[in-house]
Amino acid sequence: MSRVLIVGAGLTGSLCACLLRRELANNVHIVLWDKARGAGGRMATSRSTNDSVCTADLGAQYITATPYYFQKHQSFYEELLTHNILKPLTATVEGMLIKEEGSLNFVSPCGVSSIVRHYLKESAEVFYNYHVTHINLKNNKWEVYRKGSILEYFDAVVLTMPVPQILHLQGNFLQLIDETQKLKLEAGSYSSRYALGLFYKAGVQIDVPWAVKYITNNPCIRFISIDNKKRNLDLSSAEPAVVVHTSVSFGAEHLEKAKEDVEPLILEELEKVLPGLPKPSSTKCQKWRYSQVTQPVQDCPGQMTLHEEPLLVCGGDGFTHSSFDGCIKSALRVLEVLKSNL
Ligand code: FAD
Repeated sequence: MSRVLIVGAGLTGSLCACLLRRELANNVHIVLWDKARGAGGRMATSRSTNDSVCTADLGAQYITATPYYFQKHQSFYEELLTHNILKPLTATVEGMLIKEEGSLNFVSPCGVSSIVRHYLKESAEVFYNYHVTHINLKNNKWEVYRKGSILEYFDAVVLTMPVPQILHLQGNFLQLIDETQKLKLEAGSYSSRYALGLFYKAGVQIDVPWAVKYITNNPCIRFISIDNKKRNLDLSSAEPAVVVHTSVSFGAEHLEKAKEDVEPLILEELEKVLPGLPKPSSTKCQKWRYSQVTQPVQDCPGQMTLHEEPLLVCGGDGFTHSSFDGCIKSALRVLEVLKSNL
């Protein structure tokens, strides 16, 4: 039986693992490693340190399906809607740019990471706090090291982290990639931004007439969501949480600062945009160094095969676009490659 390692328990990695299990369960042993403490990647739902019931989506906010993708990926949408993982977005949104006429927006009542957790339930052995550092080709297997210098061998490896993080890995696999592929990978790029979650005790009123607002006239703040309201949770009993996303220019300007130093700057601007906002019981500041893809890797839609035998393939939104559909598209392409190779 082939041992397959999928690196990354974000949407692409989790979906790859789930689809591979559905199609090749008897032929492969799938293992999923993620350096984080939990599932989701950039579809992260964070908990308040004071109250684990109070949660907020710090990365992806909602799923926007264009008419083309709603039809193309119909089975994925139907599955998530049937399981109530996705529900139509009905809350008031101010200032959202309509990407395409006829697009539908969905939210995840249990937080956006519940999409990823749905696929993980069915997929593989998942190990968190497993940070891959080196990948070497040795005796026709992949020798994969994780932090702590612990190594394991695999017949195939799938990398789903943002492309610059693939290029930061060490090991002899980098010498096996041809120059043209390396140049294409190096040209892939992402925006950067910060997210700040403000968590409140039940009963605190956040008195604004909208659930989500896009801000256009502030140098720091681009987006604010009253997360429980966005997700249509029972407003009388839910613990409110506010999520702030900074603008990309603010993210770039403060990228190398410590997030502890950036948080007060965001709070200062927030006070200007929403004066009198109640004091939260806890906060969480997240730096998204690789937030959304600005330039996908060229000429390899969905995946890039770095080595054929044994197989080393990379996927993720860096090979498509930063969205639910971009990740599905990549996972399907990676699955094709795995199926024809294993
Ligand atoms: P990731 O989610 O980045 O997963 C990669 C995983 O690899 C991570 O879990 C990471 O911990 C792990 N990893 C990295 N390096 C290693 C290593 N060395 N060893 C082990 N594990 C490792 N999309 C939408 O559809 N709608 C939105 O509203 C939306 N808004 C967004 C807002 C923000 C602020 C951000 C950041 C993203 C947003 N996106 C949105 C984009 C969407 O979140 C991404 O396209 C999607 O989550 C990418 O999934 P992925 O699995 O390809 O990558």
